Amino acid sequence: MPRLRLVIVALVALAAAAVLATACGGDGDGGASGKVRVVTSLPLFADMAREVGGDRVDVTALLPAGADPHTFEPSPRDVRSVAEADVLFANGLDLEPGAVKIMETNRKDGAPLVLLGERAEADGVQVINGNPHLWLDLANAREYARLIAGALMTADPRQSEWYANDYRLYLQALDSVDAYAKQTVAAIPETSRKFVTTHDAFTYFAQYLGFEIVAFVAQGPGQEPSPEDVADLTRAIRDEHVPAVFTEPQAGSEGRVLEQAAADAGVQVCTLYSDSLDDEVKTYIDLMRFDADELARCLGGADGG
Ligand SMILES: [Zn+2]
Repeated sequence: MPRLRLVIVALVALAAAAVLATACGGDGDGGASGKVRVVTSLPLFADMAREVGGDRVDVTALLPAGADPHTFEPSPRDVRSVAEADVLFANGLDLEPGAVKIMETNRKDGAPLVLLGERAEADGVQVINGNPHLWLDLANAREYARLIAGALMTADPRQSEWYANDYRLYLQALDSVDAYAKQTVAAIPETSRKFVTTHDAFTYFAQYLGFEIVAFVAQGPGQEPSPEDVADLTRAIRDEHVPAVFTEPQAGSEGRVLEQAAADAGVQVCTLYSDSLDDEVKTYIDLMRFDADELARCLGGADGG
């Protein structure tokens, strides 16, 4: 008999939990927490969603710190996060095919998936040679923030004013880092305004700050550079009198190839962030500050030969 009582108690508890869940789990209100559940592909977009969403959103990025979006393969845990999301943000333009695929396949009915890069292109932002790394130009980052704010307001219209307010504050912070980056690189001489990097991420960044990309290691994700590629890279570094090369924190074999070419050419190896964040560079604004500082540190003093 005690056993039957236990079962009844358990059933009553389950029923109460179900009622609670139904009462709190209306459309887009984020379940028992009352927060909008946001899932993003990159930690960069999660940061932007937290800036605009404040404490009204509960944000999860599928990619862990330091992951490469081009080669990222989701886990079963990621599928669960996607299925629970009220709003989803990714870049699209083939930046993170693995993440976008599980978002398209597993999101719940009515949960919008906003592909920020593709939406920006539809809104008139010029996409250069299909390159997906639009956010490394501050003008495009403002567009991403605008798209994120719009989607959150639609998902949670009762708190629109709060989203609008936090969006305005974030735009001010973006304006500040925009001014900081331009000012920081202003003293770099024209002859030193050249990049060599590990992967083709800096098209917009270079255009934004007035630099030229001389070469990069990886043609595409997972493609191993040949010995001829390394020799070409070393030659490009020497011929162009590049004062330093820039590896990336998430770079795998491309990073080692770049370090070898830099050693052969006798130039310094520095770091630029593009797709990933980590414990040192935690936000989009940190990233733009770090990259501007690193350019000034590694290219600023050289005369470029
Ligand atoms: Zn990339």
